[in-house]
Amino acid sequence: MKYGHLAGPGRIVLSERPAPTAGPGEVVVSLAACGVCGTDLEKLRGNYQSAGLIGHEPVGRVAELGSGVEGLALGDRVFVHHHVPCYSCEVCARGDYTFCPTYSKTNIDPGGFAESFRVPAENVSRKAIVRLADTVDWDAGALLEPAGCALTAIRRVGMPDRPTAFVLGLGPVGLLYARLLKSMGAAWVGGSEVSPLRRQVAERGGIDVTVDPREPSATKSAVERATGGRGVDLAVVAVGHPAVVREATTLVRRGGTVNLFGLPEAGSRIDADLQDLYLRGIRFVPSYATTEPDLLEVHRRLASGDLKVSDLVSHRIPLDRIEEAFRLAGRPEEAVKVTVTGPSI
Ligand SMILES: [Zn+2]
Ligand SMILES: [Zn+2]
Repeated sequence: MKYGHLAGPGRIVLSERPAPTAGPGEVVVSLAACGVCGTDLEKLRGNYQSAGLIGHEPVGRVAELGSGVEGLALGDRVFVHHHVPCYSCEVCARGDYTFCPTYSKTNIDPGGFAESFRVPAENVSRKAIVRLADTVDWDAGALLEPAGCALTAIRRVGMPDRPTAFVLGLGPVGLLYARLLKSMGAAWVGGSEVSPLRRQVAERGGIDVTVDPREPSATKSAVERATGGRGVDLAVVAVGHPAVVREATTLVRRGGTVNLFGLPEAGSRIDADLQDLYLRGIRFVPSYATTEPDLLEVHRRLASGDLKVSDLVSHRIPLDRIEEAFRLAGRPEEAVKVTVTGPSI
């Protein structure tokens, strides 16, 4: 079978290898689609300390069931979560599942950009396979993981009722975050984004105001207008540039929260007025990745129609042209979310 993988900095290639088979407790899934994530792009550029496997937003059909697997049938449409926590260490006991030392060591084999992939027994037994409702199409399914990350972040932050929020960076995850906030009852959600295409998509999806961050003070005045000069409850940093973190601190109210959500550039530093942050009581909350309960909750919202995301997929590119898919995903002016498609689409 064919699969896409990294071959040194800046190089992604398609290779042949034997198709995986399912050992005891394992499942093999035939790929329908897998989203290209910003972190995949950073891995390709060599900017992510955890290099290695690419493709972690896959949906497909169950193609083989190992002995002892229950609750799944051949042909089932599924989403697969690549990481699972151990649920038994002290980190898990505190509920910080995504920071469990086991979590980022688990993965699907050989990643999500493959005609088929093997789901290890630990992922299967810890419920990392979600059967998709008929109302959740492949596009929405391929957005489950990034949307799950947004929900996990919102839970970590702990929002007041009907919060006001501003999302800096309306790439696919920023857009999902903003839509999720709206669907959960946020009173006002604004966002900044350089790409006119992505701003348009945001406004079409119900985001209250979008601005071009290159216009001086456009962001600050949008926030001041919406909040009577107080600042928002939550500013979400959904891009990697460190300058954006400092900007986020100027947008939140006293006691407000800055959520570090997008993967920061490797080696980036915060340059902010610490006394100002101290005196205004600004909280910094980082949030990495997502958990099975949050994925199930996002799936429920997608299935019921409370959350609509399928229109965010702007391009579906067959696995044979994976290089093109990565090129497009790195062009915000042309693309929103790009998926790589497999034989089960
Ligand atoms: Zn991702
Ligand atoms: Zn653990």
